[in-house]
Amino acid sequence: MTVAKQVIVIGAGIIGASIAWHLTKAGAQVTVIADGVAGGVATPNSFAWINASWGNPEPYFRLRTRAMAEWTRLARDLPEIPLSWCGGLCWDLSAAAMETYAAQHSAWGYGIKRVDRIGVARIEPNLAELPDVALHVAEEGVAEPVAATKALLADAERRGARIISSTVTALVQTGGRITGVDTSHGLIAADDVVIAAGVGSPAIAATAGVNLPIETPPGLIVHSRPYTKLLNGLVLAERLHMRQTAEGRIIAGSDFGGADPGMDAEATARELFAALKAMLRGSDGLELDFHTVGYRPTPIDGFPIIGRAEGMDGLYVAVMHSGITLAPAVGLFATREILDGEGDPLLAPYRLSRFAQ
Ligand SMILES: Cc1cc2nc3c(=O)[nH]c(=O)nc-3n(C[C@H](O)[C@H](O)[C@H](O)COP(=O)(O)OP(=O)(O)OC[C@H]3O[C@@H](n4cnc5c(N)ncnc54)[C@H](O)[C@@H]3O)c2cc1C
Repeated sequence: MTVAKQVIVIGAGIIGASIAWHLTKAGAQVTVIADGVAGGVATPNSFAWINASWGNPEPYFRLRTRAMAEWTRLARDLPEIPLSWCGGLCWDLSAAAMETYAAQHSAWGYGIKRVDRIGVARIEPNLAELPDVALHVAEEGVAEPVAATKALLADAERRGARIISSTVTALVQTGGRITGVDTSHGLIAADDVVIAAGVGSPAIAATAGVNLPIETPPGLIVHSRPYTKLLNGLVLAERLHMRQTAEGRIIAGSDFGGADPGMDAEATARELFAALKAMLRGSDGLELDFHTVGYRPTPIDGFPIIGRAEGMDGLYVAVMHSGITLAPAVGLFATREILDGEGDPLLAPYRLSRFAQ
């Protein structure tokens, strides 16, 4: 009988949860360690748009569309995940940029449709102002991020994963490889350690001399109180991206990555909410409930870091923006690589070693 591999996953946001779930399902003995509430840090503050939209080179587009397909596979296994392919309606680009995006991504197989004012009104009847032209992608969607993360962690636990609330203070090295972690509750040993700790990742990696070059830009999202249904899908208008959540809240940022909170986040939130209300008919009774400011774990070139830390056996890293889009593919690919040594070609551009060059 082969002994199950013992893997520590640091982080219980969407990325740690997905990796832990896939590893556990594949037979590993998994321990998740997180120092915050279940659901992560960036994850609950996310806009959570699942997409392979404009502005990305083809290899990243391919990874993102694969991740979108993997969301459907994951939701079949875990139907309690609130996943909705509600579609995205976008006109936040210049006419020329929209044309380039539509032509290029259509050629890559992305289901983009050009829609006129009448088409926009049909998709989103409550918009107060209509653009002359927009692009609609029916295959884009949303996974409510905290509920999805909790569903993954709960099922991983049912399948035998341990979830520990503790702070990882250092990676433990023995004979040039990572053999566990030191935590606020003592040492824990493992065959492999995965760092999926979002903005907390660089400090953990640094304890083994591994440099993770990430930035942490802030993003402000406003949340209304739950309200009658006004939006059918994602609306990506100029300076205002919004959607209605599964519990009926309308959430928005000046961009899906959130608004710059500026010096006075309260005032920025009020302004943004006023713009949101002005964009929606039937929103008279819509009230601002709260706003969040999340810090996005963003590698300095904007692309994910996923894979083994070259030169440090026993260590795997998964840190990224667009973690909601990418989570199911990251969980699957990381599991294959950690347990079977199979690196997916889609991950080739996203290794940590690219920063050494
Ligand atoms: C405003 C905003 C909008 C966004 N919009 C989108 C979007 O539309 N689409 C999209 O795909 N992505 C979006 N993102 C990005 C996405 O939310 C993140 O990429 C994703 O949530 C990262 O998940 P994570 O699990 O890596 O990190 P987190 O959710 O931050 O989780 C990190 C975990 O690590 C733990 N941790 C950290 N340090 C330690 C330590 N020393 N010891 C123990 N545990 C530790 C924390 O407790 C937490 O559990 C957005 C993000 C923000 C902030």
